[in-house]
Amino acid sequence: MCDTKVRVRFAPSPTGHLHVGGARTALFNYLLARRLGGRFVLRIEDTDRARSTEEMTRSILDSMAWLGLDFDEGPYHQADGLERHRADALTLLESGAAYRCFCPPPEQGAPKKGEGDVCACSEISPEDGAVRAKAGEPHALRFRVPPGETAWEDAVHGRRSVSNEHVVDFVLLRSDGTPVYNLAVVSDDIDMGITYVLRGDDHLSNTPKQIMLYDALGASLPTFAHVPMILGTDGRRLSKRHGATSVEAFREEGVLPDALFNFLALLGWSPGDGREVMEKAELVEAFGMDRILKKSAVFDLEKLTWLNRQYVVLMPIERLVEMAAEPLRAAGVSPGVLEDQPDRVRAALDLARERGSTIQAVAAQAAPFLQEAISYDEDAVARFWKQPEEAALLLRATRDRLSSIVSFAPDDLEVEIRQLASQQEVGAGKIIHPLRVAVMGTAVSPGIFAVLSLMGQDLTLGRIEGALGYLDAMAGSRRLDG
Ligand code: GLU
Repeated sequence: MCDTKVRVRFAPSPTGHLHVGGARTALFNYLLARRLGGRFVLRIEDTDRARSTEEMTRSILDSMAWLGLDFDEGPYHQADGLERHRADALTLLESGAAYRCFCPPPEQGAPKKGEGDVCACSEISPEDGAVRAKAGEPHALRFRVPPGETAWEDAVHGRRSVSNEHVVDFVLLRSDGTPVYNLAVVSDDIDMGITYVLRGDDHLSNTPKQIMLYDALGASLPTFAHVPMILGTDGRRLSKRHGATSVEAFREEGVLPDALFNFLALLGWSPGDGREVMEKAELVEAFGMDRILKKSAVFDLEKLTWLNRQYVVLMPIERLVEMAAEPLRAAGVSPGVLEDQPDRVRAALDLARERGSTIQAVAAQAAPFLQEAISYDEDAVARFWKQPEEAALLLRATRDRLSSIVSFAPDDLEVEIRQLASQQEVGAGKIIHPLRVAVMGTAVSPGIFAVLSLMGQDLTLGRIEGALGYLDAMAGSRRLDG
């Protein structure tokens, strides 16, 4: 299907980083545009000068690029449309759909409910209004809400309607000439030929006002689709208290863009056939507004972690090597190893990805294979080298056994270690856990036989020697203390 007249837009306000809710809105728009062969327009809504920053615009653009939310047009800046916004307001004034309001600025917000819907200024004749304006009297422009009802067919919520009695005459242009959100957004959407307005349902209450503006400006309505809000697993609106919520933060935590893309797509939408791991192309193929859920979506971090893991396991090893280079460097792996021993790096990452759900975690698991020297994790030492003499005794026996064998294949290593355990009359764990700390420095790692096999005999024996030195020193200092 290809309809070049289909035009959707994402219209973030650059007052903060791109958060999960905004990213999901952008992503649904992206999927809709790609599904229908339409155009995806990016508009930065920066009319609120005091709260909008260049830095946040850049951050939003970076996050979108990282997620792969490529837009076809823009970024346009709403502030550039100021003259058009004003012109549209004046068109409404001329047609009588708007009037000049001379109430002093604090009263220029919408009249409060119960005070009546109509500002007294609506009674001022256009001629009198024009004379007062000409004389320099400050004034705003207010929309004259017509009688009747405003209804629309929301692609998510179905038919919605509001009795216009409940909508107050709202301001279009403030007395300083700046447009309010509802005017700017409608003026822009008309100008840009937007055919679908898909956004968060926090904008549901603005929609009747916007529809009135479309009608008064003689423009045809887009299809509106309001996507439900996102809640934390505690049922409360997603916020900082739930931890990371910005795309940037997930990126820093090692979440993969494809995994986050997949996760966001499933926040309030589903393909309806139980599929969960879906790459971009599959999502585009399956997406439709008819399967956007009306009820709030729940942000389940465990699911994101699970999905990320699927992508870590599935990604081409070359890409994993590329992405893990920086965290490996940060973990002290020398540039020489990274550049000159690609097979070793690749093998370490391939083994480590069995256990990591983020690139950082995979890199941390792979680092001990590639580091010159390892350090011993405190908890691992406390758990498995609690009795240094005993640990050293078994480790010496292990060293002797491993130095005399020919094959370092995982299966052969397993036979040897199990035999050793029964000769020593201990459970295999008594040998394996302290050995893992000796070679990896950690309490957890991929399977020990695969680990030893990948390290090879020389490195394994070297690490064991290092650990024996450490254990002897531990035992010695305990004797002194004791
Ligand atoms: N700038 C508005 C916001 O960030 C979006 C407006 C719209 O999508 O109509 O909430």
